[in-house]
Amino acid sequence: MPDITRFAPSPTGRLHLGHAYAAWSAAEAAGAAGRFLLRIEDIDASRCRPEFEAAILEDLAWLGLKWQQSLRRQSEHLAEYAGALGSLRALDLLYPCFCTRREIQDEIARAPSAPHGPDGPAYPGRCRVLAPVERAARIAAGEAYALRLDLAAALRRVGALRWHDHDRGWQDARPEVFGDIVLARKDSPASYHLAVVVDDAAQGVTLVTRGADLFPATHLHRLLQALLGLPVPEWRHHRLVADAQGKRLAKRDGATTLATLRAAGHSPDALRALAERSLLPL
Ligand code: GLU
Repeated sequence: MPDITRFAPSPTGRLHLGHAYAAWSAAEAAGAAGRFLLRIEDIDASRCRPEFEAAILEDLAWLGLKWQQSLRRQSEHLAEYAGALGSLRALDLLYPCFCTRREIQDEIARAPSAPHGPDGPAYPGRCRVLAPVERAARIAAGEAYALRLDLAAALRRVGALRWHDHDRGWQDARPEVFGDIVLARKDSPASYHLAVVVDDAAQGVTLVTRGADLFPATHLHRLLQALLGLPVPEWRHHRLVADAQGKRLAKRDGATTLATLRAAGHSPDALRALAERSLLPL
């Protein structure tokens, strides 16, 4: 069966060569017979800008990539994320967390052996053990809260899970390293982890291609799919493009943008060759 793949950038800045490589990887994995989709991950309204979305479309067109219409914009699907949260809540797998970042840091500092997950230290669980009356009172008082997944309860519900990586084979899902992950933040209706599984299912994605930096996240995504009764795709985690110093390209480090490379006269083919030469080992 030909695959349905996607490229899922966030419009928080201009694309760099690492993005181009991710987009090429997804488009090629779909091949001529499959479908290559585009998703704009703009759920974080404070960091996303429409002009960056326009620039993404322009860069992809310049690279010669064609995606199937129509693109999916996360900000237009907030009700679906709320629905997924509702399903998890109905299973009694979510709890409100009122902790500030500072409180969590202090608690972790007091327990230096706290396990460290891919997204940072696992949450120590302060709000998991709050009495229901206290929860209700704090919500009624208007205190802001995030929603966390009760990971131990979630694992008890689904049991052992596996997922398949195209290059690395079958993996036993180990979402427990994340601890009680945030699925909705105080200031954002859904976390990346929740939105991505809802989106991939809604778009019918059968092969998730993305960077090797997101390999650990797949363990958690597999769990969320099981809890939400979503179809399970296959995954491929491609190598990352490094800069001249051997460090992975990142927007926050000011990686040279495709627009700058284009203005300097590089062709898409030359950039493809440069990306291939600059891949970090897996
Ligand atoms: N939006 C993510 C990024 O820009 C990609 C997420 C994914 O492919 O699952 O890194």
